[in-house]
Amino acid sequence: MPIGPDNDDGASSLACFSATYAAARAKLHLAASEAGAVITRYVHPGVTGPDGDSLSVDVAAFGPPNATRSLLVLSGTHGTEGRTGSAAQLALVRSGALARLPADMSVILVHAINPYGFAYDTRTTENNVDLNRNFIDFSAPLPTNPAYQELHDSLCPAEWTATSRKATDDAIAAWIATNGQKAWLYSIMKGQYDDPTGLNFGGRAPEWSNQTLRAILREHLPAVRRLGFIDWHSGLGQTGEPFFLCFNDRGDANWQRACAWWGRVRVESAEGYEGGERPPYNGLVFYGVRNMIGTAQMTGAVIEFGTVPLKTTFDQLRIDRWLKFGRTPDEPTTLERMRREVAECFTPEDAAWRSRVVAHARAIQLQALDGVAHWV
Ligand SMILES: [Zn+2]
Repeated sequence: MPIGPDNDDGASSLACFSATYAAARAKLHLAASEAGAVITRYVHPGVTGPDGDSLSVDVAAFGPPNATRSLLVLSGTHGTEGRTGSAAQLALVRSGALARLPADMSVILVHAINPYGFAYDTRTTENNVDLNRNFIDFSAPLPTNPAYQELHDSLCPAEWTATSRKATDDAIAAWIATNGQKAWLYSIMKGQYDDPTGLNFGGRAPEWSNQTLRAILREHLPAVRRLGFIDWHSGLGQTGEPFFLCFNDRGDANWQRACAWWGRVRVESAEGYEGGERPPYNGLVFYGVRNMIGTAQMTGAVIEFGTVPLKTTFDQLRIDRWLKFGRTPDEPTTLERMRREVAECFTPEDAAWRSRVVAHARAIQLQALDGVAHWV
């Protein structure tokens, strides 16, 4: 029997989380199939998982294929955040709400859009590309980020030791003292297209995951005119609380709609940047989806769940990158521990955090579902 939003308990919330990509995928498959979804697998042709099994993006489609109104929900754009997004999707399936869709509405769940990152507990794709910076026009000159270039050596040290951390933290602090906090945040958030081994690298071409998302939209949203969109993330904002990043044009009809669905205070909050202004981003999946649907309307958000303070999250991103490109000590247990700490930073094991996140995610998705159903 499906678990409704009103009869949930802590145990069923925790059961939405999985320990691995493979387990998360299997769990979503089973629940979505039982709830009547049509499942489509997009198998990655170039990489396999840690266990040697294939990696795939999996789509669970509810409702008619030619629906003109749809809700599109993504998980795992950043691989380490995939367990949280997958749990959110599963919470929606288990809510039972997808069995009661209006006649002209579909819900498309895209599970693990970056399956490599999810399976290996890393932010990026198999090419060290931040998928959420990869949706740019590659026929145009690549965006530049000279501030990142100045910071690259400090952000990405070859060694990760107490000494190297002290030296690089001092260098970064000096850079911020000269250039300001705002410039610092911009340099690390907006993405960079110069260094393929660096942080927030946006790529030199559309990633397989990018091309796959395009195929998914062509195949599953051919007639959409009104699209609700959620891209689940974690690591920004107050612990256990949702932080909304609405990339609709501030104040326009889609922005107002997002405020109506989720509450203006939430949509307009800048809390995730510790009070700072939201930096400009290049190449977001949000922008990619909006471009792909042409003249159709789209209301949506990247929605984060806060885990730990921004400085800690950011250091874990540096470690994530260092584990791939740095001079690592040959102590496998140390490296494994560090990899687990990266994963823990973005999807904490803490039961209270997990219960809270699932409750929020379920409610937020039901609000979006209701919003799309009544969108005039
Ligand atoms: Zn993210």
